[in-house]
Amino acid sequence: MQAKEIKGRLNEMFPSPKCELEYKSPYELLVAVILSAQCTDKRVNVVTKELFKHAGTPYEMVKLNQEELESLIRSCGFYHNKAKNILNMSKALVEKYNGQVPNNLEQLQTLAGVGRKTANVVYSEAFKGDAIAVDTHVLRVSNRLNLANSDDPYKVEQALMKFFPAKDWSELHLQLVHFGRYKCKAQKPECEGCPFVDICTYKR
Ligand code: SF4
Repeated sequence: MQAKEIKGRLNEMFPSPKCELEYKSPYELLVAVILSAQCTDKRVNVVTKELFKHAGTPYEMVKLNQEELESLIRSCGFYHNKAKNILNMSKALVEKYNGQVPNNLEQLQTLAGVGRKTANVVYSEAFKGDAIAVDTHVLRVSNRLNLANSDDPYKVEQALMKFFPAKDWSELHLQLVHFGRYKCKAQKPECEGCPFVDICTYKR
């Protein structure tokens, strides 16, 4: 199946997909994405609503100590490492970037707690850059739709970037996340009425 056909079917299912993390600035988004590892967006939104009242900028964040930040983000899980990364990341923004999140994939990935996936999310969502972040949903769905054949997020990202035009990448990421989260779930995908039954490789 052609990329255009697949994108068209996704457009019908998810005409205007939105990031489900709530944020008001690239910095808030970056913090929210770091907190979202192994945690639901819903839980992150509850936590950040309170957190950003205390620390919505890197300057405010670095005034918190490790214990204070841990207590604010505890319910997101892995709070010790997440707090450490958020503090180190914020410190680097204050010291090297005038408190601004860099609009650049390479520089983003030099920040503590920011891997390729997080950098791609921030770059595409906050800065409207062309990027495909491969999370667990994108990875699973891409394999089931035979768009990729790998467990390696980097290889899946490369396969998707080769197959789809750059202008589609950011929206495609959101559509595949929504499809994976709500329809093509890891366990018991909702296959009835799925528009991709004809190309799906999942063994039902
Ligand atoms: S048919 Fe089922 S497993 Fe295949 S893509 Fe659709 S929802 Fe996912």
